[in-house]
Amino acid sequence: MKEAIDPVCEMTVDVETARFKTEYNGVTYFFCAAGCLRTFQENPAEFIA
Ligand SMILES: [Zn+2]
Repeated sequence: MKEAIDPVCEMTVDVETARFKTEYNGVTYFFCAAGCLRTFQENPAEFIA
């Protein structure tokens, strides 16, 4: 199982079943919920180390 870390809340997300994802600067980010995706999209730079 492939996993990714939700950059907003740092939860582990299964990338194969993830419903919420977005691409930013050529990198795909996965989220546990619509709220986390929305938070990320409002200010992506804040969540990228
Ligand atoms: Zn989340």
